[in-house]
Parts: sequence; C-alpha cells; structure tokens
Amino acid sequence: MSTARIGLILPEVLGTYGDSGNAHVLCKRLQWRGHDAEVVPVLLGEPVPNSLDIYLLGGGEDGAQALATEHLRKRIGLGKAVENGAIVLAICAGLQVLGTRFRGSDGVDHEGLGLLDVVTEPGEPGTPRAVSELVAEGGAILGGEALTGFENHQGRTKLGEGSIPLGRVVSGTGNGDGTEGAVTGHVVGTYLHGPALARNPALADLLLTWLLGHELEPLDMPEVEQLRAERFAAAKRRRA
Ligand code: GLN
Repeated sequence: MSTARIGLILPEVLGTYGDSGNAHVLCKRLQWRGHDAEVVPVLLGEPVPNSLDIYLLGGGEDGAQALATEHLRKRIGLGKAVENGAIVLAICAGLQVLGTRFRGSDGVDHEGLGLLDVVTEPGEPGTPRAVSELVAEGGAILGGEALTGFENHQGRTKLGEGSIPLGRVVSGTGNGDGTEGAVTGHVVGTYLHGPALARNPALADLLLTWLLGHELEPLDMPEVEQLRAERFAAAKRRRA
C-alpha cells in the first residue's frame, strides 16, 4: 500500500495519559513489516481530514473532553472517514466522545459523535473513580488474547445493541459492568491507557490487519509478551 497515514486527533487535549504513543507503535509495526507510515497530527482549530487511514483519540480531563467533542462535532471529517471504512482507536475520554452521549462529573450531558453505541455517566453519587491496573480477556475478535493497561476515569459506560465489548474484565473496572471497551465495525474504544498498543500487540495488529486486508505474522517481542503474561497472571491471582 502507499504510505499509511495515522491521524493523531487533538493530542493537545486528548493527550494527557501518553496515548499519543499509540500512533508511534502503529507506525513502527508497519515499518518493521516493510510498509511506509507517517503520523499526521490534527490540532484544535484545524479541519479534520476524512482521508486518513487510522484515527487515534486519547484520554483527557472532563474540560478537555468537552472541547474535543465540540471541535469534532463541528468538523465532520471523522464521521465521513468512518463511513468510508477508516479505522479508529479511541481511549477513555476518546471512547466516551465517540459514544452517543456522555455526562461529565459536573452533571452536564454532551452529545457524542455516535460512532459507537455507548452512553457514559459518572455513576451513582459515591461511585469511586476507577484508578488501577486494568486487565481483561479479549473477546473473539482478539482471539481471546489478554489485554492489560491502566485506567483512570469516573465514567461508567453502557453498551447498546450496535456495539460489542472488546473484552471481559479480569481485574479493574473497564466499562463498569464486567465488560471492557466497545467495538462497532472498525471503530474500537477502550479504557486501556498504557499506551494500549505498546502493551497489547494483538490489538495493534488487529487494527493493522484491517488496514492491510490480510493476516500478519506476529513480531517477536519477548519483553512485551512477558509483561502481558505477568500482569494477566497477577490479575487472575487477585481475583481467585
Ligand atoms: N474524563 C473522563 C472520565 O473521567 C475520561 C478520563 C480519561 O480519559 N482518563 O471518565
């Protein structure tokens, strides 16, 4: 394929938790396999192009999240790109922004982009903020691979019929009902920071399989595999 263009969407507001690293992981994994790839940052105030191959949205605080939503709802590039088959990975605040609606901790409801069938609310008064390691068992699209990362959010997310969970929580909170993340077509949302793709190569390669249109040989990265295996085993022990 020609140079893969990986959009880093509003990193100055959706970049609080190091999620921009996901763009570099995808670039590297493409380059290691002989493909050209470039990261295209899209900043506040700029148009959102509809021609990129992959769009990445990270996490952010409630105020930053509201700003990002306002920006993305005014500029229709992301929705158009998804209609045309683009791939999206959205982390935490990004996941919430892509849903149909989310409520901030100030009680104000915001209409999301509607690219995932999810609604997010802060939970009943007294619901604790979810701040911990998050470990999940990936669903069928990940072949059951373990997912690990860390989470830091107040929102609790409910999935409608138009989205399926990315996995099931082994340890931590995730969506808040035992499921973790949401998938609709080639749009994926998750509560995993990390950056998620550095810690979960199977998730990175799922996105790249969609991009390239064929299965990929795994890359041999023993350190990553070891970290994931350790986290998964520790989470299972905590649950037992
Ligand atoms: N502001 C959102 C929440 O607390 C998202 C936080 C985040 O992106 N880590 O639920």
